[in-house]
Amino acid sequence: MADRAIMIRLSAWLRRARDYRSSLQGRVSLSITSLLIIVMALTVGVADYGLRLYASSVAERDLIAGSKVFQRNLSAQENELRVAGEVVARDFGFRAAFASGDHGTLGSALTSLAIRAHAQTALVVGLDGRITASPGAGIQAIDGRHVLAALNNGADGGVIMVGKTLSLGAAARIEMPDLAGWLVLARPLDQHVLSQYARLSAIPVDAQVSLAGDLAPDLAGTVPGQVRHRTGDGTSAPSGAELVQVTQLPALQTGLLPVLALRYPLSSAAHAYQSMRLALASISLIALAMGVFMASRIAGSILLPLNRLAAATASMARGEMTRVEIRGRDELATLAQSYNAMVDSIEERERRITHAWLHDGLTNLPNRRFFQEKLDLTVGRQARQSRIIVIVLDLDDFTLVNDTMGHDVGDALLRHFGALLPRLAPNATVARFGNDEFALLIDYLDVDEDIASHIENFARKMITDVRVAGKTIPLSVSFGVAVCPDDAHDGATLIKHAELALSRAKRDGKRTYHFFEATLDEAAVRRRLLEIDLREALRNGEFELHFQPLFSPSECRIKGFEALLRWHHPQRGLINPAEFIPIAEHSGLIIAISEWVIREACSQAALWPDDVNVAVNISPKHFDAPGLIPCVISALAHTGLSPSRLELEITESVFINEFAATIDILRQLRGLGVRIALDDFGTGYSSLSYLRSFPFDKVKIDQSFVKDLASDASARAIVRAITALADALGMETLAEGVEDVEQYDALIAEGCLMIQGYLISRPVPVLQAIAVLARWNDHDTVQARLAG
Ligand code: C2E
Ligand code: MG
Ligand code: MG
Repeated sequence: MADRAIMIRLSAWLRRARDYRSSLQGRVSLSITSLLIIVMALTVGVADYGLRLYASSVAERDLIAGSKVFQRNLSAQENELRVAGEVVARDFGFRAAFASGDHGTLGSALTSLAIRAHAQTALVVGLDGRITASPGAGIQAIDGRHVLAALNNGADGGVIMVGKTLSLGAAARIEMPDLAGWLVLARPLDQHVLSQYARLSAIPVDAQVSLAGDLAPDLAGTVPGQVRHRTGDGTSAPSGAELVQVTQLPALQTGLLPVLALRYPLSSAAHAYQSMRLALASISLIALAMGVFMASRIAGSILLPLNRLAAATASMARGEMTRVEIRGRDELATLAQSYNAMVDSIEERERRITHAWLHDGLTNLPNRRFFQEKLDLTVGRQARQSRIIVIVLDLDDFTLVNDTMGHDVGDALLRHFGALLPRLAPNATVARFGNDEFALLIDYLDVDEDIASHIENFARKMITDVRVAGKTIPLSVSFGVAVCPDDAHDGATLIKHAELALSRAKRDGKRTYHFFEATLDEAAVRRRLLEIDLREALRNGEFELHFQPLFSPSECRIKGFEALLRWHHPQRGLINPAEFIPIAEHSGLIIAISEWVIREACSQAALWPDDVNVAVNISPKHFDAPGLIPCVISALAHTGLSPSRLELEITESVFINEFAATIDILRQLRGLGVRIALDDFGTGYSSLSYLRSFPFDKVKIDQSFVKDLASDASARAIVRAITALADALGMETLAEGVEDVEQYDALIAEGCLMIQGYLISRPVPVLQAIAVLARWNDHDTVQARLAG
């Protein structure tokens, strides 16, 4: 367990060390530390080298001095022996014994001399080279002739070989009165003696007297007196570096080359400086430790602000905006200042982006995204006993306002409405979904609260005039209402249901509202399914054209037929265009369908009498897409129908988008000789202005006016106004939806030129159209019918 704990600690420590090494602070610290170590090592190395050099030169000097001391000792010893010898050599008795050849006396004299002089050997060398020595002195151990030769050459002391031992010898003259011989004393120069001499030296030297030929090979060529550095090999000399000086010693016999080798181990020489080196190393280590500490502190102090910046940047990456503390006035402080400024500007930009992301630029109200999120949250937190209301509102005929009064007025109206809504519903969240669609979220209404009266109240508040850009416009708003949890349990569905209710309200008319009902959703589903089936309908030949006569009372004849599309759905039977045309327009299928209608209507009309025209309804969508003009040209060319017999019916909504482009297309169609009729006239805002914008051939008065003709005097006035204006502009007028004779009479009285409606005939299949034509072109029959 303990091992495991140690291993865990060790690995954690190693990890920290690795992290530190890879960090900027670690790298800076390590770099400074490495630099310090190099500088310290160089300094210590140079200082040590200098110390060694100094120690070595001092040691050389000491060795030379030691050598001199050694040699002085030798010559002092030599003198001592010589003086002792001279005392005996001058002794009368000794000289008498020497002269008489009394070897017994001589021997005992020499023996006592050797003892007194602490000499190993005392002997006499005759002028013939013969040697007389004390008994047992081993005269054969000394080469008398060579000693004599040296003495004759002037030597009186030096190294002499006694037996195999190198000894220090000194000679005293035996004069009677002339030189008769030499008294020689010798003391061995063994290691013991040499060590004693060496001890007298100021430095611990190792002395050795040997013959030159016995020197170690590396010392053989040494110039006498020169100090040499050498590394001892441990055999001929002690191991380790040492200084060696070899000096020649005087010899007391010829043929002998004695030398003194003094060794001085450098370790001993350097010993005196050891403490100095130790002090140097200690100071270096302390300096290094301080350097490392300082390097770490300096790196830390430089990098701390950077680390703070790095931490702040990392937290910014996580989405947390952190500012850094600004310390001092250096470059790092400037960097921190700039960083803080950057954080401020990012926050500001984020605020603006978030606002733009969640708000509508025109009204500054929350947008659909915001509304949806808020609604989801509200639904999520909804208490059991509460209800949430979602209202989606739409300005009626806003496109007409835009189109007739200009986009600036349209924008002003939207802004005005956007500002008005929060005042009318102060406790609601108000949003603009886009275009002229707005939404309200009224949350946490108590279950007991009467939602219907709540909504009714709100609807009443909506009935007001607004003054926009100097103009007073009656506010006309429709809206749909969905309630949570009754209609849906999630935000997206609630909005969808409120929008369905709105479109239902729109279909009901203007300035109205509708609560969501399940059937609305069913209708939406039905529309989606129809759209799928519609794609197949054209290919499967499920379309058919019915024709409704356009009757001229003045000429008492049918002047043409309006082609009205019918869809025979394989399962659902006959489906009215009012239901499927909007779906076709929404899905874009209307273009292909319309092209089929144009071709089919032309080919049928080509079979009719030349004075019977055909009218074809053209969707506004066809004006947004290319191909309408080529399609008309091709249909006329294929069927051979005269262009003047083709009438294209358009509605005012065709002008909503691209007014100029629409007029241009209409002009080109007119250029082909085709007639243009304005259908459903009077349902738009500015119908009269449209009449001025293009010279229509015919104006079809909408059936809503015809329906109210008997009951509503204003409807009759409108019809009168339209017929008068159209007449003035040279346009033919036609009344749609004429069902009874009263309407017929009233319309004729108001100057209407053409009649269309069930009174004449319902739309009929093509085969019946010819029969209807025959029936209504017979004057008497017509009179009878209209009278009846
Ligand atoms: P619309 O062009 O205004 O056609 C007249 C509509 O009034 C027809 O409805 C016709 O059946 C109906 N109608 C005629 N006389 C009377 C009457 O006396 N009383 C009543 N209550 N209604 C009468 P339908 O056929 O259902 O067509 C509805 C609309 O669908 C048309 O209105 C037209 O806008 C559109 N539509 C029909 N066929 C086509 C087509 O081929 N292409 C396009 N783009 N739209 C078409
Ligand atoms: Mg029509
Ligand atoms: Mg119409």
